[in-house]
Amino acid sequence: MRRSILTAFALATLATGAVAAEDFVTERRLMVQEIESMAAPLAGETGIAKFDPRVLRALTETPRHEFLPKELAGVAYKNRTLSIGHGQTISQPFIVALMSELLHVKDTDRVLEIGTGSGYQTAILSALAREVYTIEIIPELATTARNVLARLGYANVTAKTGDGYKGWREYAPFDAIIVTAAPDYVPPALIEQLKPGGRMVIPVGGLLQDLMLITKKPDGMTISTAIVPVRFVPFIRE
Ligand code: SAH
Repeated sequence: MRRSILTAFALATLATGAVAAEDFVTERRLMVQEIESMAAPLAGETGIAKFDPRVLRALTETPRHEFLPKELAGVAYKNRTLSIGHGQTISQPFIVALMSELLHVKDTDRVLEIGTGSGYQTAILSALAREVYTIEIIPELATTARNVLARLGYANVTAKTGDGYKGWREYAPFDAIIVTAAPDYVPPALIEQLKPGGRMVIPVGGLLQDLMLITKKPDGMTISTAIVPVRFVPFIRE
């Protein structure tokens, strides 16, 4: 109770600009601790007992509340999926961590993201990669995310509005591809636009979905592995 009053007060002062905006450093640390503590018990399924320190640092430094509607700032660091409007959601922080980890992003990598949504996963990738290319099909979400990313100084992100089904040929191939909406099958263009040696993480399925890791071997052959059951919003076609 006391906490919700404090939060309401913080939001009210934020809205009037009466005090400097709260930066939620403590909340963010607690969120990261919770994510870290979930790794070991789920390692049997995910294959990940410990997260890469680079991924944990990106989560610790990325202001998730900035990517949410103002009224949700108080719950931004709960390990929960939240609504971002237009029937879409921002993924649970643990899933963002897991997908980022599975991608093995290096600081020399160029990454393609399909489903910008709030731009939060984009920001995490921006901290891990050299360049991030992101596509969002809902124009209002694309605009909001682009504005937040620009305001916060994520300079290595290139964004566009459109259907990610065909990938982004102009900038292909990519070292890593992440898809944050679930199609029934892996769009063939995304496989084509993945570099040999590259990795893709994508939820696949209808009501029952699996988070798939697809790796492309140096000879171009792909290997698909189901990691965990997940529930993402459906992939939309233009
Ligand atoms: N990574 C996002 C998750 C957003 S939910 C975040 O952190 O907030 C998935 C997003 O994928 C939605 O915004 C949805 O509009 C978008 N989407 C669905 N189908 C798409 C498609 N074919 N091309 C591009 N974006 C798509």
